[in-house]
Amino acid sequence: MQKNYQEALNNPIFNILSEAADELNVESYVIGGFVRDYFLQRGNPKDIDVVAVGSGIELAKKVAHKLSGNPKISVFKNFGTAMIKHGDLELEFVGARKESYDRNSRKPFVEDGTLQEDQERRDFTINALALSLNKSSFGELLDPFNGISDLEDKIIRTPLEPGITYSDDPLRMMRAIRFATQLDFTIELKSLQAITENKERIQIVSKERIVDELNKILACPKPSIGLSLLHKTGLLDYILPELTALEGIEEVEGQRHKDNFWHTLEVVDNISKTTENLWLRWAALLHDIGKAPTKKFHKKIGWTFHAHEFIGSKMVYKLFKRLRMPLNDKMKFVQKMVLMSSRPIVLAEEFVTDSAVRRLVFDAGDFVDDLMTLCEADITTKNPKKQKKYKNNFKMVRAKIIEVEERDHVRNFQPPISGEEIMDFFGLKPSKEIGIIKAAIKEAILEGEIPNEYEAAKEFMVQKGIKLGLTPKP
Ligand code: ATP
Ligand code: MG
Repeated sequence: MQKNYQEALNNPIFNILSEAADELNVESYVIGGFVRDYFLQRGNPKDIDVVAVGSGIELAKKVAHKLSGNPKISVFKNFGTAMIKHGDLELEFVGARKESYDRNSRKPFVEDGTLQEDQERRDFTINALALSLNKSSFGELLDPFNGISDLEDKIIRTPLEPGITYSDDPLRMMRAIRFATQLDFTIELKSLQAITENKERIQIVSKERIVDELNKILACPKPSIGLSLLHKTGLLDYILPELTALEGIEEVEGQRHKDNFWHTLEVVDNISKTTENLWLRWAALLHDIGKAPTKKFHKKIGWTFHAHEFIGSKMVYKLFKRLRMPLNDKMKFVQKMVLMSSRPIVLAEEFVTDSAVRRLVFDAGDFVDDLMTLCEADITTKNPKKQKKYKNNFKMVRAKIIEVEERDHVRNFQPPISGEEIMDFFGLKPSKEIGIIKAAIKEAILEGEIPNEYEAAKEFMVQKGIKLGLTPKP
């Protein structure tokens, strides 16, 4: 006898779906992510995809009618789909369909089809699992492509010939890699080869969809799984060529530099252990991109990447723009992290002075903790002695940051003496001396020559003004 999975459908919503399907006398199934995640025991998914062998929209209307609270139903007639939000659940309805594709677009030509045909057009065997909703077969599993055994073997496999599946809709290449990263699955070899062969077709996918998948990969516990698959299949050259440009180790006159691509992947994994902040993860991904265009070999000092942080932060803007990512404060945050990414490292290598820490806090402002997190993740040396030394030094830097900040409050620095007060004291009109005095006060505070306090700053202002040849107003 066939095994039954009624237990997966114990949410009362499924009884309503079942009644509605029977009243319309239409075969209906819950399919895709919900079923997959049930078998993987990945919590209780809130997205429920329902396929009707008939009209998905009619089924949705019937369901909406039966639900309390008159839920909102959105109908997308052109796509033959409908969506209902009910509490925290999101129900998607679609009619079973058969698809055929045009080579230049991801938009398929669609006709009504059987359940099996609908399952064939799905991306992966593990996403094609369906559980019957009709009363007579409630909870029965329909798994024509052995998705269950692929779940057990942790394999990403396509229902049809992979060459067809990926060429039809190249977004599936990104999805394959994303699911492999999220679920820690292996992409079947034939599939991986098909992705490699179809890599250039990624260009017909919109930037927004690509970035969506990239973000999902970056949000995983170990993003390097996906990033190295993107690299291995050649997709990364199309998506983030700035990163693949970092690959390789060059040797001149016996001097080598590290492979900054594989180093970057390690840094991203490291930072993902300590923060969920997606933009900090982006910063880790991009922190060294300026190294490719700035790399030089000098006979005396070896390899240098002069000003790579500055060049890198400029590249962040271009990259975000090209990928149609937001050019807002998130982008600026990533830029700032890239620009400052070497600052704490210099501190950790040398003896840490208060003034160096004050300058760091002053420049990084509210992002000083994020910057420290990035720099700690940047330690990838395999030398245990150095590893320990750097970590200890960063601990000291962190402690000093707290100490200095408690005393000097330079995190969101406000000048203790205003321009007006300077003008008033020396009887000046707006002039460059005011700027000079203000900058000198700030410098003196950051250097630790005077405390960040009104009285001390005022005294300093008087002396500085006299040195500039000014005289106090009588
Ligand atoms: P998650 O929501 O966790 O990302 P999911 O499997 O539910 O995973 P969705 O994007 O919500 O993914 O899609 C729902 C279902 O629709 C999938 O399980 C799959 O069956 C099908 N699907 C989605 N996108 C595609 C695609 N590009 N090609 C083929 N089938 C797809
Ligand atoms: Mg989903």
